[in-house]
Amino acid sequence: MANDINDLILAALSWIEKQSELIIGTGQPLNDVQISIARSVGVIHPELIRLLEVDEIPVPEDAILRQSAQISGLLLLNMAGLTLGYGIYTRRSQTTLRLLSHEFRHVYQYEEAGSIANFLSVYLEQILTVGYQLAPLEIDAREHEII
Ligand SMILES: [Zn+2]
Repeated sequence: MANDINDLILAALSWIEKQSELIIGTGQPLNDVQISIARSVGVIHPELIRLLEVDEIPVPEDAILRQSAQISGLLLLNMAGLTLGYGIYTRRSQTTLRLLSHEFRHVYQYEEAGSIANFLSVYLEQILTVGYQLAPLEIDAREHEII
């Protein structure tokens, strides 16, 4: 299905948008404390955020897409959280304040980008050039962790 980089990016975008809709349809809204944490890291519309606790963060079924996402660093092994627009996956028993503040900062970044597609193009470019650890969007999220 995915045979060049543009097809892969489109496939990743469609997977992310689908997961985001799934979380928004089935996840929990934030409680008052979580809403104020989200506001404190810059989120404009914390009331739109939904949290979905899972045993394992899902990965794409398509093998090529899954491997590309893992090799590029878009999806990491044993991730504790994953923010997809206003949808946030967290792994059960790992939903700490530190994790939530980090993921909420990614929500802010999506808001700034204006769309999932805009965010993804900037984020992908960063992790493909400097890697996950040094990606400016990851550094910014780490700097906003509440610990
Ligand atoms: Zn992050």
